[in-house]
Amino acid sequence: MYTSTRSSIGPIGAKEAILQGLAADGGLFVMPDLSSCSIDLEEIIDKDFSEIARIVYLKLLDDFSESEIDECIEKAYSGTFENDEIAPIRQVGDHYILELWHGPTSAFKDVALTMLPQLLSKSLQSAGKKALILTATSGDTGKAAMSGFADVKGTAICVYYPHGGVSPIQEKQMSTQIGKNVDVFAIRGNFDDAQRGVKELFVNNELNSYANQNGIVLSSANSINIGRLIPQIIYYFSSYAYLVKSGAIKLGEAVTYTVPTGNFGDVLAGYYAHKLGLPARFSVAANKNNVLDDFIKTGIYDRNREFFKTMSPSMDILISSNLERLLYYLLDCDSNAVASLMADLKTYGKYEIDESTKSKLQSLFTSGTTNEDETSKTIKEVYDSFNYVLDTHSAVAYNVAQKLNRDKVSVVLSTASPYKFPQAVMKSLYKDFDDEWEALSALEDINPDACPKALSSLSALPTLHDSVIDQENMCDTVSRAIDKLASL
Ligand SMILES: *Cc1c(COP(=O)(O)O)cnc(C)c1O
Repeated sequence: MYTSTRSSIGPIGAKEAILQGLAADGGLFVMPDLSSCSIDLEEIIDKDFSEIARIVYLKLLDDFSESEIDECIEKAYSGTFENDEIAPIRQVGDHYILELWHGPTSAFKDVALTMLPQLLSKSLQSAGKKALILTATSGDTGKAAMSGFADVKGTAICVYYPHGGVSPIQEKQMSTQIGKNVDVFAIRGNFDDAQRGVKELFVNNELNSYANQNGIVLSSANSINIGRLIPQIIYYFSSYAYLVKSGAIKLGEAVTYTVPTGNFGDVLAGYYAHKLGLPARFSVAANKNNVLDDFIKTGIYDRNREFFKTMSPSMDILISSNLERLLYYLLDCDSNAVASLMADLKTYGKYEIDESTKSKLQSLFTSGTTNEDETSKTIKEVYDSFNYVLDTHSAVAYNVAQKLNRDKVSVVLSTASPYKFPQAVMKSLYKDFDDEWEALSALEDINPDACPKALSSLSALPTLHDSVIDQENMCDTVSRAIDKLASL
């Protein structure tokens, strides 16, 4: 069922695609033919998140048994989210806000990173292997991955982040993570150093053969893994079901989803939902790093531009890896054409799609961009008008949704709790705090009930990990993790 975007290898099953993560030719795993996977909308209207998840997973995870899927769903979603709804929706002004941050780390990465470890664990069991996950993080992904993999059978995880390069809250979230199989290290250097270090670990022959001798594969929790993408399809359907049930739309009516976008994973999951039958259109919301906005408007993807650090850091990206999957479908599954665009991107930092591909793109996607000032103003205005606090990423999407034409009903995806980025949020609402913890407690005072419990109790938790290392020593940390995983 799965092949690569860059050649017609395979087809291979879902388990193998999840185990491999990235295809050997450098492409991403995709399902070329989804014609037999359509989802009957009438069937999902009365179902809850887990029941819809079951329907989606049974269609797309071809070689998982029903009982394996049920077990994964139970472990991923039972008791891990603050709210049984997993992805609640609420009306704020002219828009419906889809809140994706009620998971253990208060950002939307949880929706996928609670499930990926379960899917990987089953895939490993079938292959008789274990996996050591190596991940570089600029903040959000690291904690969500640690939390998702903590004590999952057959797995262990090492996370590397730039020393002094993540927020105090993000650092504390990672350093307090419990689990026999989790480790985290601050690297002296910036995010690129940490990322480069991890890439070198993956191609280190000695390390790979040492892992191999112990029945362990080195793997990543990166958003290019198809096992991280599929879980994100579900909330598009669950939100649609909610809108029908609440009378906001009639069954079959189109809805516009506005998605705060970085690596193009979240909005691509929406595109998959559309391919499976969801009547949806998409607005891609970008911050000052507006490479995607330009692409959707002009058909030219050009990463040769200045990189900005913004108050929505998880969207500060110039190469949106998952866009490759969308290109594959827009180009009618022509893997040679995709490979050639990706070669252009590698060589020139730039590529251009033809007119007919561009019009296909524009028939489904619009886009907009928001500068820092507009983002701040949106946070303030939405709070003043509706008593609702948006985080900095969700505010980008809300602002873009306000600016663009749309269907009658508009859903804005909210990807983080405002309490995860309290300094920027408080600066927009009230005043600048030097200390992030002070900003957090001031934001708590505004609405004490809204702060996720895991964040309000965070500062009091004991620190379990405090290693600061040089890039040269990353290799040793992996050897030790291999020894530990082999004995677990
Ligand atoms: C990762 C992330 C995004 C961007 O999602 P993509 O799937 O990379 O496009 C947006 N907001 C937050 C808070 C995130 O953590």
